[in-house]
Amino acid sequence: SNDLSTFCICGGKRDEIRINSSHISKQVERLDLQQNQLEVLKSNFQETRATVKDAHSNWGDELRRLEFHIKSLEVESSSYHKLLEENRLLYNTVQDLKGTIRVFCRVRPFLPGQTDGLSTIDYIGENGNIMIVNPHKHGKDARKVFTFNKVFGANVTQQQVFGDTQPLIRSVLDGYNVCIFAYGQTGSGKTYTMNGPDLTTEETWGVNYRALNDLFEISNSRLDFIRYEVRVQMIEIYNEQVRDLLVSDGTNRRLDIWNISQPNGLNVPDASLVPVKCTQDVLDLMLIGQKNRAVGATALNERSSRSHSVLAVHVHGKELVSGSILRGCLHLVDLAGSERVDKSEAVGERLREAQHINRSLSALGDVISSLAQKNKHIPYRNSKLTQVLQDSLGGQAKTLMFVHINPEVSSFGETISTLKFAERVASIELGAARSN
Ligand code: ADP
Ligand code: MG
Repeated sequence: SNDLSTFCICGGKRDEIRINSSHISKQVERLDLQQNQLEVLKSNFQETRATVKDAHSNWGDELRRLEFHIKSLEVESSSYHKLLEENRLLYNTVQDLKGTIRVFCRVRPFLPGQTDGLSTIDYIGENGNIMIVNPHKHGKDARKVFTFNKVFGANVTQQQVFGDTQPLIRSVLDGYNVCIFAYGQTGSGKTYTMNGPDLTTEETWGVNYRALNDLFEISNSRLDFIRYEVRVQMIEIYNEQVRDLLVSDGTNRRLDIWNISQPNGLNVPDASLVPVKCTQDVLDLMLIGQKNRAVGATALNERSSRSHSVLAVHVHGKELVSGSILRGCLHLVDLAGSERVDKSEAVGERLREAQHINRSLSALGDVISSLAQKNKHIPYRNSKLTQVLQDSLGGQAKTLMFVHINPEVSSFGETISTLKFAERVASIELGAARSN
């Protein structure tokens, strides 16, 4: 019975050992599996660590690149500001030497089929001289010389004319006010200079489109430093009444002029003020303006030659680093025809128009020549035209007058009177410029 019990105990132990052994081998199997998983995790971890390390070093590079870029932008920006300041100083020095009023004379070519073979333009010199001749007269009275800042002969292109105007226009982006006028008798080329003969042909675009194009181009090139906004107004002054040319509903409201300088620089705050971002926006607006002018033309017979049209370009710039604001305004003015009206012939509406035109053009002449003489009192209040332009005439503002003349002998009288007006406007400035 001892043997039996020993046998039983041994059998029991053996079973226990077998169970334990299978348990152990199961655990070993599980441990092996866990070991494998650990290996996989370890290798994944190592891979991830390598990727993170790479990324970290890449980010570091990127960070260093960005820091470098920011530093170089700061350097560029400060040198740009220095340059801007130097430009301003230089510009002011040049302006002090030359004065703020410029007069350019432009001669229109003979029109197709119009030439009579005789021209009143005898000679155009290099230094802004032009000699006018009356071919029907002899002796010293037949010739007269006038001097301006520049004279453009009949063959000078729109691009060349704009080229000499460009520096003045660009100063608007530096916060200056600029006024450009087209003066001359009807048919002498005022609209040709300002608008061009045809909106669809880029080559013959006038100063207006080229100026806006240039402003967009330059403002885009300064995007890293200054953000500009350009907004446009277009008004007409007819019989001393101001009218909005950009109204889409065709309403013919009279607009008021605010004589106290407005903080936003708008003298006619009720006229539509339209933001423009590209030349196409401007072309679209011009078409509306021309259409609104044309409505008047059918009713009042060629009204465009008897009204002043004013394109006001308001530029607002914010300097990104300093946060300071620059404001500039460019006024582009196509004036009413300057021809004298025969008082014995003109009656009624025509006489009234002629009197308004005469009065406003001589008020403009008085303002410009008072500015040129640096008078204390500038007679802005004598016409709507000078009131509208008050902030852009005088002070730091720069003025350019294009005077237009015809080559035809039949226009001789008007040509002389146009050139005399221009000389009165500019003579003191030119005298000062010459003596420098
Ligand atoms: P204004 O506006 O002074 O009444 P316009 O600009 O309408 O005169 O010009 C009268 C005509 O002469 C138009 O047919 C115009 O195309 C043409 N003209 C004016 N200036 C030039 C020029 N520089 N070159 C060619 N044609 C011109
Ligand atoms: Mg015209």
